[in-house]
Amino acid sequence: MNEEELAALRRAGAIAREARDLGASMIGEGVSLLEVAEEVESRIISLGARPAFPCNISINEVAAHFTPRTGDKMKFANGDLVKLDVGAHVDGFIGDTAVTVEVGTRNWTSLIESSAKGLAVAVEMIGEGVLLNTVGGAVDRAIRSNGHVPVANLTGHSMKRYNLHAGISVPSYDDGNVVKVPGDVVLAVEPFATNGAGQVKNSKPGNIYRIMRERELRDKAAAEHFQLLKENFGTLPFCERWATALDPKASVHLRMLVRHGLVFSYPMLVEVRGGKVSQKEHTVVIHDSRAEVTTQ
Ligand code: MN
Ligand code: MN
Repeated sequence: MNEEELAALRRAGAIAREARDLGASMIGEGVSLLEVAEEVESRIISLGARPAFPCNISINEVAAHFTPRTGDKMKFANGDLVKLDVGAHVDGFIGDTAVTVEVGTRNWTSLIESSAKGLAVAVEMIGEGVLLNTVGGAVDRAIRSNGHVPVANLTGHSMKRYNLHAGISVPSYDDGNVVKVPGDVVLAVEPFATNGAGQVKNSKPGNIYRIMRERELRDKAAAEHFQLLKENFGTLPFCERWATALDPKASVHLRMLVRHGLVFSYPMLVEVRGGKVSQKEHTVVIHDSRAEVTTQ
């Protein structure tokens, strides 16, 4: 990792953190999800970065992969447990960070603490040469000792330039995969904790998409829209709102592009037993025998 890349990673991390904190401070009863998402994303842009993915706002048993639609009227309600997940990139170098906020009540303080403890333990341990399954084991113990279980089928991930999920997984339990942290790598570490079964399943579409592959399409308008999406979002996730801002007919084209396998539609991830879910995430850059957190 050279100094330029490191500088971009640090800027992306600092901008993601600032946008995350702004978004978290806005969340309250009666506030619209759309307003928070738009504010987070425009702050990222005004600070000189780009969103690395749409602002994810996932509530209660929804663990991840929801963002509001154009004109969305959804509002936060008293008692909601809200995961706000924010990504910024500078020249493709990504900062990915998330926090959990409870609206109005204090019923889930300990659950919020569980994912925070899991993350703290992971960040403390992680470094070049460390076995990722042992990190996972420590995260698991931290969450269980706080009275909850980790969500086993959600993991952290390595990131590369313009690539959000670059191949290495950071588990939240000892999955038995003996993988050492390499010397030069960017890791998003993100334990999820729940009072449910500790698994998520796919649910309805969450308005978030990613380009999968190029293919011939008979529908000219949809094919043109695909090119527009490719030019604007490349390999990174985008959402219905961003596509509609480029073309008011985006929703129609998106349906077609998903049906024909050119675009992937992320399903919302929901806890299998309807348990409440908390999450905390930081980006850690491993370089020069150090583990540097860029998002705190
Ligand atoms: Mn994230
Ligand atoms: Mn992540």
